[in-house]
Amino acid sequence: MATLEEEHQALLQFLYLAPVGLAQLKMDGEIVMINPLSAQLLMPLSPDGSLNNLFAALETIAPELRHLCASFEEPYGMICDATRLQVNAGIPGRSDPQILSLTLLKLDAARLMAVISDVSVQVKRERQLQQHEAWFNAILHGMTDYALVSLDGKGGIEQWNESIGRVTGHDAAAVLNRPYSIFFPEGATTEDSLQDRLQDADMNGWSLQESYCRRADGTRFWASTLITPLRVRNDAAHIGAIRQDMSDCPSYCLVVRDIDEKREASESRRKALLCDHLTGVANRRAFFDAAELEFERMRRSPRPLSLVLFDADSFKSINDRYGHPVGDTVLRHFAETLQDTFRQIDIVARIGGEEFAVILPSTDMPAALAAAERLRAAIEGACVNIDGLHIRYTVSGGIASVDGDVSGIDELIKRADTALYVAKAEGRNRVRTWGTSQARLLEMVAS
Ligand code: GH3
Ligand code: MG
Ligand code: MG
Repeated sequence: MATLEEEHQALLQFLYLAPVGLAQLKMDGEIVMINPLSAQLLMPLSPDGSLNNLFAALETIAPELRHLCASFEEPYGMICDATRLQVNAGIPGRSDPQILSLTLLKLDAARLMAVISDVSVQVKRERQLQQHEAWFNAILHGMTDYALVSLDGKGGIEQWNESIGRVTGHDAAAVLNRPYSIFFPEGATTEDSLQDRLQDADMNGWSLQESYCRRADGTRFWASTLITPLRVRNDAAHIGAIRQDMSDCPSYCLVVRDIDEKREASESRRKALLCDHLTGVANRRAFFDAAELEFERMRRSPRPLSLVLFDADSFKSINDRYGHPVGDTVLRHFAETLQDTFRQIDIVARIGGEEFAVILPSTDMPAALAAAERLRAAIEGACVNIDGLHIRYTVSGGIASVDGDVSGIDELIKRADTALYVAKAEGRNRVRTWGTSQARLLEMVAS
C-alpha cells in the first residue's frame, strides 16, 4: 500500500508533468504551488517577475477575477470555466494575439485550483471556422434572413439582393450609392470607422462584427455583419491606389444577418468579461484594449482622437453623508448619463472608484470639449432620487487630444489627468483642456 509520502510524491510528479498549467492558490490569489507550465505562461505577466499572486499577475487583463472569487458563495465548485484572457493584441500584420484559457475551481473555504493553458492557435482556428460558418449560414438561410450587399471601394452601396427589404426594411432603390452606415444606429459609426472595417477586411480577409443594426423605420435589431473583399489584394502598400482606381466597381461584399435571438447570450458573455460590475460600462481592461486599437487605427490612417477623464466632485462627502449604497446609486447615474450623452462609438469606461474615461474616436479637441461640457451640465442639472432623498452632485473633466508628440494611451491619460487636476484646483464642476492647463499648472506650482 502506498504511504502518504508516496502519494504526495506522485501528486507532485503529476503536477510537475501535467500537460496543462496548474496552480494552487489561497482565496486571495496567493500562489501556494505552481507547475512549470503555469509559471512559463504567467511569468511574462507578473509585474515584478516574482509571481506571488495570480490575481495580481492577471490584474490588467482580467481585473474582474478578484471580485468573481470573492462573490462566489458556494462552499466549493467551478468559479469560471475556460474563460479566455487576451494577453496581448498581437503585432499588427505579424503575430496573432496570445490567448490563455483559465478555469478556476474552489476546492474548499481556503483553497482554489487554477488550470491554465495557451489556446491561441485554437482560437485562431475557431475564428476561421466562424467565418466559414457565417458564409455557410448566409447560403443556407439565403432565401430568408440575410441581406447581401456589394459595396464600392469607399463603402458606398452598389448592388443588393432581394432580402434587403425583409431584413432591414429599406427600399433597395433608395439605398443605392449611400454609405453602408445606413444599416447602423446613429452614433455607432464614423466615416473613419467605416473605412477601418474595409481595411480590416483587406488585411485579414474579412471583418465580422456582432452589434446593433438599424432598420429603415429606426428600430434596432442585433445583427452579425460580415464584410469580405471581392478582390484579393496582394500588395498591401497598393491598397489605397487600387481602391481609388476601382472605386466604381464592387469591391466588398457585406452580409447583414438578423441574429436577435442570440443577443442575450452574446451580450452576457461580453458583459461578464468586459464590463464593470457596478455600472455596466466598460472596465479597465476593455478600456485599454479599445484604446490600443484606436491608436493602431490612427497610426494606419491618421485622424483626430480625444480622451476625457471625469471625476465626481467631493464624492467622499456623498458617501459620508448618505452611505455607500447611495453613493453606488449616484455612480450608476453618472455612468448612465455618460452613456446617454456620448455616441455609441465612444468608449465609456470606469477606470477608478468615481473616475470615468471616455475615448472619442475621430474627434478633435473643440468637439470633445463641447461633448464634455454637455455631460458636465447634464449632471449639474440632474437630481438623483433615492429613498426620498434628492441628491445633486457635480463632476469635473480633463481633456487631451492626440497631436504629433503623443506616444500612446499612457501619455494621453497623463495629459487629461493634468487638465482634470486644474479643473479641480480651479473650483470643480468644470472642464479643462490640456494645453491651456499645462501653463496654468506651471503658474500654480510657481505661486
Ligand atoms: P474630489 O472632488 O477631489 O475628487 O473629492 P473626492 O471626495 O471625490 O475624492 P477622493 O478621491 O478623496 O474620494 C473618492 C471617494 O470615492 C472615496 C471613496 O470612498 C469613494 N468611492 C470609490 N469607489 C466607490 C464605490 O464603488 N462606491 C462608492 N459608493 N464610493 C466609492
Ligand atoms: Mg478620484
Ligand atoms: Mg472625486
